Amino acid sequence: MTTIAKKAKSKGRGKSPKLWKNYEIKDGKAVLKNKKCPKCKKMLAAMNNRIYCGGCGYTEIKKA
Ligand SMILES: [Zn+2]
Repeated sequence: MTTIAKKAKSKGRGKSPKLWKNYEIKDGKAVLKNKKCPKCKKMLAAMNNRIYCGGCGYTEIKKA
């Protein structure tokens, strides 16, 4: 890996887009977008119109 590639990467907006996908800024605070699984308390992953738990397979349909 070259230094140039590293520089270009750090120039990008945001520190970790993957992580921040799970957050929403509300009144200057970062709020977790995703709910936690009621069964195993793991973070639910949002997929299109539903949220899914990778831990136990719990799925919840989101209302539009
Ligand atoms: Zn679960």
